[in-house]
Parts: sequence; C-alpha cells; structure tokens
Amino acid sequence: MPGRLLQALRAAPSSLSTKVESSQALHLPLFPPVYSVHPPTNSKSKSQESLVMDAFKRHSLSGRHHSDKKSPKVEPQKAAKMDMVVESPPLVFYNSSQSSTGALFSGQLKVNVTEPHVTFEKFEMRLLATVTTKKPVAQHCQDCATKVTEIHKWEFLKAPASLRHGMHEYPFSHLLPGHLPATTHSTLATLDYSLSAIATTSTGDKITYNRNLDIKRAIMPGSDKHSIRIFPPTNLTAAVTLPPVIHPIGDFPIEMRLSGIVTNKNDSQTRWKLRKLNWRIEETQKFISPACSKHAQKIGGDGKGVLHEDVRVIGNEEVKHGWKTDFQEGNIDVEFQAACNMALKPICDMESPNGMEVKHNFVIEMVVAEEWAPLKKLSQATPTGAARVLRTQFHLILTERAGLGISWDEEQPPMYEDVPASPPTYVDDYDLSRLDDEAGSLNL
Ligand SMILES: [Zn+2]
Repeated sequence: MPGRLLQALRAAPSSLSTKVESSQALHLPLFPPVYSVHPPTNSKSKSQESLVMDAFKRHSLSGRHHSDKKSPKVEPQKAAKMDMVVESPPLVFYNSSQSSTGALFSGQLKVNVTEPHVTFEKFEMRLLATVTTKKPVAQHCQDCATKVTEIHKWEFLKAPASLRHGMHEYPFSHLLPGHLPATTHSTLATLDYSLSAIATTSTGDKITYNRNLDIKRAIMPGSDKHSIRIFPPTNLTAAVTLPPVIHPIGDFPIEMRLSGIVTNKNDSQTRWKLRKLNWRIEETQKFISPACSKHAQKIGGDGKGVLHEDVRVIGNEEVKHGWKTDFQEGNIDVEFQAACNMALKPICDMESPNGMEVKHNFVIEMVVAEEWAPLKKLSQATPTGAARVLRTQFHLILTERAGLGISWDEEQPPMYEDVPASPPTYVDDYDLSRLDDEAGSLNL
C-alpha cells in the first residue's frame, strides 16, 4: 500500500512550479496540483503516520502572519487609525470547488487621520491564506508548522499621498475564486483567511489593520442517493436511500430495505431476523505536512510532505425499534433519523490540493439472526443459532446549509452545465459489502 501511494504522488504533474509562478498570487500558489492519494483502507488507524511522499513545492511568503486575531484590531497612538466596513454578504461558495462561481467580497477600508496630516508612501492590503498544522515535520518549528500564501493584493496608492485630518475611504472589491477551500479547523491542520492592510508613512511608521475572513462552502442538495449493497453468500440485499448532502446541525432521514431475508425449502423456511441496527458517521481528516527548507532533509528533500490521517466518529446511535418485517415479501423496511453530534464540532467536507482533506462516511451495521420454521407452521420459528454482522458504508457530503449568503451571480440565467441532464438514476452505487460470519459468537 505505501508503494502505491508513493507512486501515485510521484505521478503528480510536474508542471506545477511554472504554473504557480506565472499566475501571481491570484491563483493560489498555496494549493498545488491535485493528485490522487489513495489512502490505506484501514480506516481504524488513528493519526496514521507517515508516508514520506513527493508532493509539491510550496511557495510561501517570508513573513509570518498570525491569524488568531478574531476581531478587528486598531493600533493605538498612530498618525491614523484604520477600520473596515464589509458591504458584501457572508462569504459562501456555492457548490464544489470545480463548479463554484466564487463569492464577491467588497467593502471600504476607512482611514481616520488623527494628525493634521500624514503622508502615505505605500498603502496596500493583502488577502492571506494561512495553513497551520498541528503535526509539523520538525516539532516547535514555526516555518514547518505555518505557511502563509497571498491570495490577492490591493494597492490603494499609485504614488505617495498626503492625507488631511479626518476620514478617508478606500473602497475595495474582489471576486474570491470558488476553487479556494473553505475556512477549516480540523484536528490536524487549520486553514484561515485574513486581511492585512499596511500603510507606510513617510516617517517609516506602519499603520496596520488585520481581520479574519470566514469562507464557507455550501453544496446545493441534488436528489436523494440510492445505493444497493449485497451480502454474499447470503441472499441479503440492502437498498438504502440517503440525502444528497447533510449539515452539521439538524437530522436527516435514512431509508433502508433489506430484502432476501426468506429462503424456502421443500417443507421448511429459513429466514433472517434483524436483531440489532447501528449507524455512525465517520469523519476522515487528512493533511500532508510540508517541511520548511531547513528541515526538508528530514523527509528526503524539497517538495515532500508527510501524510497524516485521522478518523473519528461524529455521530452514532443504535436504532432500537421501528423496523417492519414482512416474511411474506421477504423484506425488512426501516426508516430512521440520523444526525451529527454538534458537541463534537463536525467539520464540513473540504479538499485542498495541498493535501488537506475532510470527508465523511455513513456506516450501517446490522446483526441478523437466522430462524427456521416448518412451512406448515411458520409461526413456530426456532433460532438456528447462526448470526451474521452486515456492515456497509456510504459516502456522505457534510456541508453548510445554503442560504447563509446570496451568491453574487444569483440573478444570472442558468448556464448550460446547470441544466439537469436526465432524471436521477435509481442506483447511484452498487457494492459488495463486508459480511462477517460470527455465528454463535454473538450470544443471541
Ligand atoms: Zn522547519
């Protein structure tokens, strides 16, 4: 498995560095090309170390930026103070990074000159993306732990300008590209966006203003997902309907039909009874920790990283009742509500070409026990002692609820790609699921 992973990463496009350099900060030097990482399937491993991989070269700004400034801050005792009025709605990217049109960010940077006048030599504002990992290649190394990338820069002055006492307004706007990953705070790494405005006066004084920007992503719900799982060697089949997306807050319905529960022989019948039904939502986080130039040797040179993976359960429950068994039809039908546990702070799905990723799976686990009955007296069933554990999982998209903001292009007519191609297919995926034969050991 590690070999496969290495190979996949080595096969990553090599055109990266030229692409990044020519695109000047606007197109995310932070997020190198997408390559496919096929992780070890052993999802039980906690914080799974550590495959050193050829990944990519990072371009980071030399200056460190500390993004823990939650609210606007104004530096005291300067010739001028800065403040900001944001005019655009909350920043929400609609749909996936491949199809999102982005979000418009606009407002006014306000400069309140407290002296009779002040001369600004330079006045600019940067939108920065800061990625901080909790698993740096070299412990306690700030440069390994934090990468800051400039996403956009506004230059408010073409030449030095003298400002009089009073308020001066500098409008700004930028269409944030929809491929940017949303603000994410995972247990392995954080991605934060911030604005950093700096005015340099003729005396060399720096007047600064910093503010965090929260970028969210909302994947619009499509139609429900229908999935089928089979459990050989039994005849059992599970047809499951899941919502297209789920949200951190609020419950969602799951419908399942387990069919093939009855097998008739000459004069008798065997059948499966559902004895236990559990579900859980698994959250898988990944991050590829990069190394700073000083510590690159630790992992075999520049452009490499260390893959970390963390799997946790962010919601689970036993469904104790509510299923209907129909031995005539050979089906068990069940409907239940599931939800994330808010206390565990679920993290929305995200994927960044720098190797940061959050994904979710919905896992259903059932215990079925076998019964035998003579065809003439079907009501007199006796347990045979055989039992099986049926385990199956489905990919779930956890995303913000739509409607937090207004998309900048909401008024535009739908584009060609937006027109639905065809009605939803009945089955979205079909998979052979794991079936554990634990007959006798379950004490049923
Ligand atoms: Zn380092």
